[in-house]
Formats: sequence, structure tokens, C-alpha cells
Amino acid sequence: MLDLHVHLTGHRDRPADRENVRAFLRTAAAKGLREVGFADHDLYYEDLNLPLLSEVAAEFPGLKVRVGLEVDYRPGEEEKVRGILASFPFDYAIGSVHEIRGWAFDAPGQEQRHREAEPDRLYRDYFGLVVQAARSGLFTTLGHLDLIKIYGVRPKSDILELAEETLAAAAETGCAIEINTNGRNKPVGEFYPEERLLKEIIRRHVPITLGSDAHEAAAVGRDLAEAAGMARRLGAEALVGFEQRRLIPYPIVAYSV
Ligand SMILES: [Zn+2]
Ligand SMILES: [Zn+2]
Repeated sequence: MLDLHVHLTGHRDRPADRENVRAFLRTAAAKGLREVGFADHDLYYEDLNLPLLSEVAAEFPGLKVRVGLEVDYRPGEEEKVRGILASFPFDYAIGSVHEIRGWAFDAPGQEQRHREAEPDRLYRDYFGLVVQAARSGLFTTLGHLDLIKIYGVRPKSDILELAEETLAAAAETGCAIEINTNGRNKPVGEFYPEERLLKEIIRRHVPITLGSDAHEAAAVGRDLAEAAGMARRLGAEALVGFEQRRLIPYPIVAYSV
């Protein structure tokens, strides 16, 4: 099992110090993960302390520790992101859309605005940005693919039609898609992406990876065995990890529930 979406400092509510790193890795080891990847928000990338991470990682010989970044994708900021990604030897980079024209739609307290919006418009605006993230060439992975459902507002049109261009862009560019289990802890109460999307992603041979989106040590690895089982049931034959942006396939049988 691997968990490549873990926030060491949460929303900078903890330091990236030795004790904190150890707490995350201890949970990862206790849950039997073989690989864990720190992917803090790009806003805090300067907190990254690679020597400290490798030092603490050496205490956990059964665990591969990767370093990635979760980038808040906004069109027009590609050059800035390219600079950040070039400044550290990241193993992978997750491109995530959390904002539509300046609206942080996944923030707490935004439900009303979701309810008032025309749902298909909401989904089209959102997926339009995810397509741009995929085509930017900056990312190895697309984060929480259908995050726009966070408050449980569903589109009128078929989700497969709304996400069509996004799925095509991922397939063309080889961008992986994560199963992010944290959606279960949000109002929508289910993983990202939803099952029908995941099935189509697998059918198109888009690489799949796993992430808990843990913002605290206790949440590392949460529900990932179930997510891997779901991927396998829908026909996936492998999951992927990353080393220096190279994709590493893992047979999914190794991670079955
Ligand atoms: Zn995110
Ligand atoms: Zn995240």
C-alpha cells in the first residue's frame, strides 16, 4: 500500500520538525504502508527540510519515503510553479484545483454558494480548470479529481460527459489520477473520484495512485486498503508511485484488502 498525499504541516499548524515527521512515519509503518509521500501545499514549500526527512526516514527501513508537492493550480501561474518545482528534487507533483476565478470553493462555509449555483455550470467551470492543469505538463498527478462535489451538489448532466475532456487529457498526457479517500470525511461522504469516473479512468488505462490527504499523523493511510480494493474490483491491474517524476508501477495484488 502507498499513500502519496500526506500534509506534514497541515495548513502550517505544525512545524516540519523531527517529532512530527516521526509521528507520520510511525502511523505509516503501523498501518503496513510500504511507501509514503509528503505532498504539502505549494504555499509552504519553503518549510521542506529534505535532509531531516531522509534522516528520520532512515529509522523506518521498511518504508520508502517520497517527497512531492500539492500545487494549487491557477491558470497564469505556470511559470511560478515551474520555478518552485525546479527548486527541489520532487518525486512527484500533484496538480489540484481548489479555486474557480478566485473563489475557494472547497473552503468551509461555502455550501450555500454551491447550492445557489447552476450545477452543470459549476462542474464545467471546475473541470475546465482541471483540463488546463493536466495539459500544463507540470504535474505527475491530478488531485481529488471531482472535488467540486464536496458539498454534495450533483450535476444535471452525466458526469462522464462533464469530465470527458479531463479524462482524455489525463490519458493523452499520462498524468496519473489519485483515489483520494478524504472525500469520505467531507459533506459528500465518498471518495474522489466517484466510482463511475474511476471505472472510466481504469478503462482508459490512466495510471492510478492513492492518497489519504491526511492533514494529521493519525489519518495517514486512512481507507486506502478499501480504495485499492475498489480499484481492483473495477479492473485496475496496477497502482503507481513515483521516483524523481518517473512512474513506478506496483501490482495491485500486493495491496489488496
Ligand atoms: Zn487539495
Ligand atoms: Zn491535500
